[in-house]
Amino acid sequence: MIDVPDAEPAFRPDLLAVCRWMSEYYVAPPGLVLRAALPAALGTSKRPEPPVKARRMLALARDLPSLIEREKTFARSPQQRALYELVESLGGRASVEQAVATLACSPAVVSGLVKRGLARLELETVARDPFSLRDAPPAQPHDPSAAQRDAIAALIAARAGEVALLHGITGSGKTLVYIELLKHVVQLQRRTAIVLVPEIALTPQAVDRFRAVFGQQVAVLHSGLSDGERYDAWLALRRGERRIAVGARSAVFAPLPDLGAIVVDEEHEASYKQGESPRYHAREVAIVRAREAGAVCVLGSATPSLESWENARTGKYRLLSLPARVGGGALPLVEVVDLRTNTRAAHLTAAERQVRGVLSEPLERALVERLSRGEQSILLLNRRGYASFVQCSACEWVAACPDCSISLTLHRAPERLVCHYCRRQEPATDTCPQCGALTLRQRGLGTQQVEKLLSEQLPTARIARMDVDTTSGKWAHADILDRVGRGEVDVLLGTQMIAKGLDFPNVTLVGVIDADVGINLPDFRASERTFQLLSQVAGRAGRGPKGGLVIIQTRVPTHHAVRCAVTHDYVGFVAEELPGRIDPPYPPTVRLANIVFSGVEEPETVAFALSAGAWFEEALAGTGQGTVRMIGPAPCPVERIKQRWRWHLLLRSTRPGTLTRLARRFLTTFDVPSRGDLRVTFDRDPVVML
Ligand code: ADP
Ligand code: ZN
Ligand code: ZN
Repeated sequence: MIDVPDAEPAFRPDLLAVCRWMSEYYVAPPGLVLRAALPAALGTSKRPEPPVKARRMLALARDLPSLIEREKTFARSPQQRALYELVESLGGRASVEQAVATLACSPAVVSGLVKRGLARLELETVARDPFSLRDAPPAQPHDPSAAQRDAIAALIAARAGEVALLHGITGSGKTLVYIELLKHVVQLQRRTAIVLVPEIALTPQAVDRFRAVFGQQVAVLHSGLSDGERYDAWLALRRGERRIAVGARSAVFAPLPDLGAIVVDEEHEASYKQGESPRYHAREVAIVRAREAGAVCVLGSATPSLESWENARTGKYRLLSLPARVGGGALPLVEVVDLRTNTRAAHLTAAERQVRGVLSEPLERALVERLSRGEQSILLLNRRGYASFVQCSACEWVAACPDCSISLTLHRAPERLVCHYCRRQEPATDTCPQCGALTLRQRGLGTQQVEKLLSEQLPTARIARMDVDTTSGKWAHADILDRVGRGEVDVLLGTQMIAKGLDFPNVTLVGVIDADVGINLPDFRASERTFQLLSQVAGRAGRGPKGGLVIIQTRVPTHHAVRCAVTHDYVGFVAEELPGRIDPPYPPTVRLANIVFSGVEEPETVAFALSAGAWFEEALAGTGQGTVRMIGPAPCPVERIKQRWRWHLLLRSTRPGTLTRLARRFLTTFDVPSRGDLRVTFDRDPVVML
């Protein structure tokens, strides 16, 4: 039973309809779907601990005894003066919430005082919402550009349930469009809204912009929340005390009444897909929820998924474009460094070659220039498949995880080998276990090594590293990004996580250390992902008046994922990528479902997959129409994860309904043998194929 503290049902009708759709479409048990849609504290019958009220206090930090000084200090900020004097009259310390309410001023006035060192924020008790600790910077009001105005007008005029794809290049001001739409929906119509972002911790700037405009109306749902905090936020949303939910994937289930808009920012991001049952895609759920609630749904991206692009092309979604950067800003110039010619020079030693592979001469020169001018740089090291592995140079043996068929990654401090699937750790050694040679050496490079190398090449640079190791703390991402924003960092080095949403006008150089890393992964979206990543990271450069330069290092400069990123040509990329999705057909040409069979014993797993394959063959022969095609069964690209062998088969069809019925029949009638802990998982519209 679901225990809800008051008489209202836990689910609103639109959410119930969404859950019913999910259960049907993803062929997932209704119980699992309901659990995914409720906060953990409601899924169990236990009540969370009672809410603790957090109070942010504003404390004056500087006395202003002389009136003249006071006049001068506040000459151009009468609101700050009013706030200062209010707090002063209350003994120099007051609750931010109360002070803002008393003066009916914007929270920006508070941040203004803090920024000028006149006051500081303090916390009175332990806050349950850690986001309240972060001070939202003041909103910078902009007048929308003509393109932004058109997009806003179209969204405001949109039909209930309509879906719009907002294709706006990086820096075109998509956030302002969302904000203006929300102003209309929340402030004018008194309705509510949901904003989905790929990952809160990676996009603090975007979240801050919403908080700066809508203040206490916003509930930020992020993974750092405890069950109790999540529950509080959930209640506040359900009661309409907060009218905007901002969060990752699961925020699509925010229990808001009278929903008027759902924004899915960076709609192409893979993190919108849930990796466990129900394996839903938050973008698809958002569309269904908007339809059920009569809300408008906006999908925004500089590099839309091919699926959404196709839906816009066929008129299923309305296409809105922001084709230029705001304020006449130009897209950065992109240069390519061909690593084949750059590192092959005969006079180079192996070590020099490795260094050059990290930092080619043009990239090093550009970094040095930025340093001398006091400008900032971002360096992307795409770790996927690039993480440093250990290989014997005598017999080519590679240190691999015995439980998962992938190579182990060398970590330092303390030195150890780590499996990135199951987290298994092993001591690092110098001796090859296969041939006994003392020649184990590291291949590929990790962020730590690149950081070390950078600090040797650029001894005066202040370098910050952002990867899974430096961001384990709750607010570590935000701390690093705040330092970049304050100009305390010259070079920000990081993995994919630095490619998203950052907006730093003083960043004038972006370097991509190795563009090719993801291109050859055994996944039909490998090129699309690479193009998206390169475009996104390139979009971090030149957001200010100083312009920007992007340097991409690659061994495949002619690949369309690289070429089209260089020319900022999304449409050109799609034109080259789409034909490769037609024969053999892949989305958006067809719909896919991936069925994975796993077990602890290899022979039993294989037999299991093969018998399922036979079941489908027979079932498909029965339909006669060839509307569903099967590929496989075959071993998964990663054959073993966490001691389980994995096989899979793919179903493709142009008819989603037929696929649903077939999958349901299989999952409800095919017997899973009881030996060997065999399991079958069904993944509709799979996003990760490894
Ligand atoms: P996108 O998400 O499309 O990459 P952002 O929404 O981050 O772009 O906007 C980029 C920058 O442009 C931000 O600093 C934003 O404050 C600014 N901006 C947005 N709209 C305008 C406008 N109409 N005039 C001036 N600046 C704007
Ligand atoms: Zn060896
Ligand atoms: Zn492993």
